[in-house]
Amino acid sequence: MTAAIDRMNLHLRQSGAVPSSRKSKRQRLASLIAATGGLRILERLPQQNCLVVLNYHRIGSPSDTVGDPNLYSATPSDLEEQVRWIKQRYHISTLDEAIAFVEGKTTLRKAGILLTFDDGYKDNYDYAFPILHKHRVEGTFFICTSYLGSSQLPWWDQIAFMIKTSRNSKVVLNYPEPLTLDLDDGKLQALNRLLCIYKTKHNLDKDKFLREIARSTGTGDERPCERIFMNKAELKEMSDNGMAVGSHTHSHPLLSHLSPELQLEEVSLSKQMLEQDLGIEIQSLAYPVGAPDSFNEHTQEALRRAGYRIAFSFHGGKNIAGKTSCYNVRRHHVGVTDGNALFKVRTSTAAVLGAPLF
Ligand SMILES: [Zn+2]
Repeated sequence: MTAAIDRMNLHLRQSGAVPSSRKSKRQRLASLIAATGGLRILERLPQQNCLVVLNYHRIGSPSDTVGDPNLYSATPSDLEEQVRWIKQRYHISTLDEAIAFVEGKTTLRKAGILLTFDDGYKDNYDYAFPILHKHRVEGTFFICTSYLGSSQLPWWDQIAFMIKTSRNSKVVLNYPEPLTLDLDDGKLQALNRLLCIYKTKHNLDKDKFLREIARSTGTGDERPCERIFMNKAELKEMSDNGMAVGSHTHSHPLLSHLSPELQLEEVSLSKQMLEQDLGIEIQSLAYPVGAPDSFNEHTQEALRRAGYRIAFSFHGGKNIAGKTSCYNVRRHHVGVTDGNALFKVRTSTAAVLGAPLF
């Protein structure tokens, strides 16, 4: 299986379906800042009284997956370097401290850095948990309860898998509107176009859209069968050993696309299931996708009714003391292709300014 994935990913790198490791302008600038001593100056500047929330997804290499390569945030060695670096320089917040901060019950005096991980992939248990545990640092893991222990690909990985294994170089869709994607122009671009439609098109019949991609790519029902999400026992082990857990809904829908009743069901069911499995109170949620239009006032009303105290988005911005909405706590993306120099410059500028400079 591994050799087959390696062969497929070699082909995918050549066809542009795996993110390029070529250095971006931001990476080159960050390397220059680090090489000329700018990072040490940034680390010594006065810090804001703010909460900086970093958002990871998968840990590993994009070339390891048959699914969406965009999901990778760090290799295990990069994550360990990042945790060690932050711990030596900044205060790493716990989820309880973050809740007290947004509720105005405490100030952090300096910047607090909260480490969060979305979706509950098994690689979070395999790689992130041992690293955080070794360094005695709390991470917060947002779990989709319907994915626990699952080997089924979630919608974003399904779309990626179908594009990667397409039998046709031209993918011609008739739903939700006529669209032709030429995979020879780049599989990653085609994948991102389809993900964008899924995430942003209101009233999209999502099952019909997935069937349409399967038809147009000629991929049918082929699916990998290895377990990709952590199971209940693994999550319980993490929770019992210093990790915080929050909800990422039950089935990872775009909440704002659902009726108020269904939104309440999604956030209530996942909370109840996690509380039952773990024997702890679940007080936090991360919105699936987390863009400004991924949640709405009905979502926030549902969170209030279900008893959540804090909810995290994923579209940047600052969490300054006294000015942070408890149901829209901002988070910042960590990307595997960023590299550690860019990670350090982004994190240290966020500690000074409240959000990364670039
Ligand atoms: Zn997610």
